[in-house]
Amino acid sequence: MLVENTAHTYLHLLVFQCPQCGDPISVPMLSEVRSLEQADGTTCKLACSCGYSREVLGIQARRHYVEPWPRLHEHDQSHAEGLEARVQAETKKKIDRPDQARLD
Ligand SMILES: [Zn+2]
Repeated sequence: MLVENTAHTYLHLLVFQCPQCGDPISVPMLSEVRSLEQADGTTCKLACSCGYSREVLGIQARRHYVEPWPRLHEHDQSHAEGLEARVQAETKKKIDRPDQARLD
């Protein structure tokens, strides 16, 4: 799993379209690989401000952007996990309270 040379992280930004209101829903994820296949096979939790929520595969995104993402420290692995946990927590919060979207 740990290979010294894999010093790159990539941001995969998947943009879905809400089938209910048509708004874009973006799902960022960090990956060790640049190829789209892994993100395409990842389950994404969509949570739209209109209350729509669903789990879909990454391949269902309308757009899929990939950018090199600079690493900050050697802690980047935990950083990536922290980001993922934060995104999931945020998503969960929205699903739990779909009708209480706060704008502050
Ligand atoms: Zn929506």
